[in-house]
Amino acid sequence: MHEASIVESLVELVQQNLEPGQRARRIEVRVGLLTGVSPDAMQFYFEMMREDTLGAQAELDIRLEPLRAECRNCQAVHEFSEIAWLCPVCGARGLDFQNGDELHLCNIEVEDGQDRNS
Ligand SMILES: [Zn+2]
Repeated sequence: MHEASIVESLVELVQQNLEPGQRARRIEVRVGLLTGVSPDAMQFYFEMMREDTLGAQAELDIRLEPLRAECRNCQAVHEFSEIAWLCPVCGARGLDFQNGDELHLCNIEVEDGQDRNS
């Protein structure tokens, strides 16, 4: 499991994006299904790390990104909410995934309610 190091670099990135005196309240990340990252594990490490870094007020909001894939046989493009290997249209095995390995920091909400987009 590499969630611990992912959360560590995420926390660092958040700290770099904060202005002096600002405190993060909610951090929104998008995680692709193909990363194999477990949101529960990320949440667990985040809660362990936040006290000493961002403070206990910081919350982590993890969104799983739907997976887009094109069928090599019929070229149909579909979105999946979990990993799939068969085309739902023609049943062929052979999907080209167009995303899924992303792990983005989308938004940092700071304590005074102002949003910072990055
Ligand atoms: Zn197909």
